[in-house]
Amino acid sequence: MRPYQTCSHCVMDTSDSQIAFDDAGVCDHCTTFHRHTKPNWHPDAQGRAELDVTVARIKRAGRGKDFDCIIGMSGGIDSSYLTHLAVTELGLRPLVFHVDAGWNSQEAVNNIERMVDVLKIDLYTEVIDWEEMRDLQLAFFKSGVPHIDTPQDHAFFATMYKFAEDHGVEHILTGANLSTECVRNPIEWMYYQSDAIQLRDIHRRFGTRPLVRYPVTSILRHKVYLRYLKRIRVERPLNFMPYIKTDAVALLQERYGWQPYPQKHFESRFTRFYEGYWLYRKFGYDTRKVQYSSLILTGQMTRVEALERLQVPPLDDATARREFEYVANKLGITTNELQGYFDAPNKTHQDYRSQQSVYAIGSRVMKFLGMEVGGKR
Ligand SMILES: [Zn+2]
Repeated sequence: MRPYQTCSHCVMDTSDSQIAFDDAGVCDHCTTFHRHTKPNWHPDAQGRAELDVTVARIKRAGRGKDFDCIIGMSGGIDSSYLTHLAVTELGLRPLVFHVDAGWNSQEAVNNIERMVDVLKIDLYTEVIDWEEMRDLQLAFFKSGVPHIDTPQDHAFFATMYKFAEDHGVEHILTGANLSTECVRNPIEWMYYQSDAIQLRDIHRRFGTRPLVRYPVTSILRHKVYLRYLKRIRVERPLNFMPYIKTDAVALLQERYGWQPYPQKHFESRFTRFYEGYWLYRKFGYDTRKVQYSSLILTGQMTRVEALERLQVPPLDDATARREFEYVANKLGITTNELQGYFDAPNKTHQDYRSQQSVYAIGSRVMKFLGMEVGGKR
């Protein structure tokens, strides 16, 4: 066991076992940001000029169609602000695409409805088969891995890609961004949610019913087949414009009556439980460290404020207990059974089959070609 250490610049620490520090005690997340991400990131006039070219291409491709792009919308801050910008700033005609995996918070539902209502755009909601979703989520709990959010996340983008392919949509806009996400979750905390080999292996061992309607995609399918043969492109417009989280929240509240969440990703009740309780208490991984470190690096939070906030657990005891019961109940198991999974030994993605080597090669190629700024190690 290495001694505990926190970065002197951000709040990442040795709970990320791969973290490396230089002589000044600055971590590799910070040095990667300053050396590789920041020089290639232009949320200014230069970025806007690049974005305008993309927007013109999207509009051309969408001429005569009901919509020119789709926006994957969770109801969270990033996708909500993106939707606002796409319509009011960029003049796009998006179809808002939402996947309902059974765990929407009431705030998320309200936020999505208010935005499409005010912006007068169409909303398409795809509902994931609950019995299969439930079975897959339980399989992940039983597997003992940290990344139990995979069934939900995988369904989100698999469904969106499938919709794009079926409807000949060439452009998908996502709220992924460097401003609030330049530090990424370490692989051991949150393994690649697109890895279909891992998903199927865990389900094969612990699932109880076949996945028939649940959408499974694979990294090769969406990075190669859909990208180059079907020409479906994923754009991240927030990287080309100024994006200050507190300003965005204020604007959305004022203009749409948008309701903020206490923490990033808490628009899903499952993710709230997963990041606020399961990862934090069972594995000692606090995703706020990643989120706050991103905000520190992009000048939106001080290190002192981050350290202060981290003193308090993400969910207080009463909320944690209530959510524990809610999750067990919703999954159709007893709280004792859920507690049993909590107490069982922790496993990692390496305990199951995976395509990690494919991801490693892909990420090396992307870095070599300069196609990926930031990103995982
Ligand atoms: Zn750091």
